[in-house]
Amino acid sequence: MSTSSTSDRAIQVAVEAPILGPLTYLWTYEQFPHPGTQVIAPLGKRKVKGVVLGIDENPSTEFELKPVLLKEEEEDSKFFLPESHLKWGKWLSEYYLHPLGQVLSQFFPPLKKTSNRKRKNQLFWEDPTREPEQAPTLKSEQENAVQQILKSSGFQTHLLLGVTGSGKTEVYLNVLEEILRQGKSGLVLVPEIALTPQLVDRFSKRFPGQVAVIHSQLTEREKTDQWWSMIDGQRKILIGARSALFCPIPNLGLIVVDEEHEPSFKQEEKLRYHGRDAAVVLGSFCKCPVILGSATPSMESWENVQEGKYQLHELKSRATESHMPDVHIVDLREVREHRRDEPSELPFWLSDTLYEGIQSTLNRGEQAALFLNRRGTAQTNQCPECGFVSECPNCAVSLTVHQRSDLVCHYCGYTEAQTKRCPSCHVGQMEPLGLGTELVESDLLKLFPQARIARADRDEIQSRHELEDLIQRMEKNEIDILVGTQMIAKGLDFPKLTCVGLVLADVGFHWPDFRATERSYQLLTQVTGRAGRHSQDPGQVFIQTYSPNHQSVQVAQSHQIKSFYESELGERRDLNYPPFARIALLKIQGNDKTKTLQSSQSLVKRAYQLKSAFEVFESVQVLGPAPAPLSRLRGKYRYQVLIKAPQSQVIREFCRRLIQDDKCLHSGTKVQVDIDPLHML
Ligand code: ADP
Ligand code: ZN
Repeated sequence: MSTSSTSDRAIQVAVEAPILGPLTYLWTYEQFPHPGTQVIAPLGKRKVKGVVLGIDENPSTEFELKPVLLKEEEEDSKFFLPESHLKWGKWLSEYYLHPLGQVLSQFFPPLKKTSNRKRKNQLFWEDPTREPEQAPTLKSEQENAVQQILKSSGFQTHLLLGVTGSGKTEVYLNVLEEILRQGKSGLVLVPEIALTPQLVDRFSKRFPGQVAVIHSQLTEREKTDQWWSMIDGQRKILIGARSALFCPIPNLGLIVVDEEHEPSFKQEEKLRYHGRDAAVVLGSFCKCPVILGSATPSMESWENVQEGKYQLHELKSRATESHMPDVHIVDLREVREHRRDEPSELPFWLSDTLYEGIQSTLNRGEQAALFLNRRGTAQTNQCPECGFVSECPNCAVSLTVHQRSDLVCHYCGYTEAQTKRCPSCHVGQMEPLGLGTELVESDLLKLFPQARIARADRDEIQSRHELEDLIQRMEKNEIDILVGTQMIAKGLDFPKLTCVGLVLADVGFHWPDFRATERSYQLLTQVTGRAGRHSQDPGQVFIQTYSPNHQSVQVAQSHQIKSFYESELGERRDLNYPPFARIALLKIQGNDKTKTLQSSQSLVKRAYQLKSAFEVFESVQVLGPAPAPLSRLRGKYRYQVLIKAPQSQVIREFCRRLIQDDKCLHSGTKVQVDIDPLHML
């Protein structure tokens, strides 16, 4: 587009409204706008924000075009998105089937720019007078990784596989140092929950005054200021949760995604994107390297290494002198049998082995943590005698209890009647799987009256402030036993924590999701890595389970992760699940049960029509409609339809056509599409 002055011309603008494509407006200012400039556009009676895409060569003559307005503040109106980010925004919109204008609006800060002179409060990481911290000499594995990553030119994705505490962060810091030396900037993404002052401190100590931070708890003013400090080039490293991807950093030279396997990189509302996948695509548009770091990489990333798309770098030993922990597996079936003959004083969920483990830890003045993997409310029943859980014969996921009498597969809708007696061993009575952290806490208070016990789960810990407070109390050794859900397992590092117990590992094994085994493996391995990170003696880990032979338990003990990936990927291949096939989840919601079900059924009917109408869609599989595991949520009835296809392009095109025409839906029912869904709820 020319930037010289012209008479009024038609331009395409992506407006912030639920409209998939761009609209045409009139440009009336003298200086022509650069693509990527934000403007104010009239839409009906409202004025909305929009982003200029380019000239409209063939504007429709049907309507009179309305002019757009520039933003008030000169500096704000002069800014435009770099071409790389504009392209990335278009990709997001097309890939995740989300209105372009709503994607692009996320690139801009919430408030107007303030001049630097007006800024009063300095955030702690901004202090440029701090002494830069001396970097440790890299170990040879770290040095190799750094050199190889720097050797690749342009875009390349690297998977940095290193056990917990192996020094991955140190690798990021060293690569960043070189990127900054080349005059470029870096972006470091971490899961929101891991974005603690400790982490930010580590980066800002190495690079004083060069770090900006974006997370959900900053004020709009702070966010805007952090955003501009990167755009102006005043700061060179942006650390943030997934939304930091939307800061259009100029001259981006490196993207790091730490803990890349973390499900929290997936956004579950509006634009349902995966932060890791989107980061890799952004790296390709910015022609820069991307490092994905993890001790337990996702199946997707591992398969990408096998296919030669990602380069693998391994850190096999811990950077400090500590050892990997001893892992004890406690078979709950045996515990139960034993207690039938010899009743125990201990609560049903606590084995003698774990009890003694906690007791001796407290005697040494050290800390214990108990995890209970309690997720959501989809109810699965298990036999307490043999550990049996009913599975769908078609989809190999656990069946969920619906309306107290049916067991339902929420992938394909398969249903069977629930029985009281276990259909496998014919002895046990099926009962809901899982117990609560509250019960564990209250039992512990009775068993260890002297101990200081704290509970950390979504009910207890609601804000970043509360989480940081908890971390501090653990660090100061003001807590003896910590009880919590997996939210406390993420990346925490406490010197005195030497005993970790998993109360009932099975909850995760039978989560009704094809990723249940992968998640359990990641959780168990990550949790195991929390114990004894700084002690000379290895930490002690106790895994209580009805399925001691479950793969995830076995890897947590043996640390043989490669054979785990092989067998899990084999199963995914056999069952046609990602990473070998692509899936999309259509969620149908409505206030009226019959209408919602009918809408779901007509959507499926339309899906079959599409399949037979176009040859490319022959390979598409349509499953459902099935009730969602939480079939009523916030007063809405929910059904879902699962779409599988071998290629991502096919599935996207299929879904696009499927939702384009909403005539098949009753009014009052709504469809949402989730491409590459992570949570099947
Ligand atoms: P990860 O990110 O893999 O969990 P970190 O980078 O946090 O590992 O390193 C774990 C600990 O080891 C940290 O306390 C870090 O300071 C230390 N460390 C890392 N690399 C080295 C090294 N080369 N020499 C000495 N200590 C190191
Ligand atoms: Zn099924």
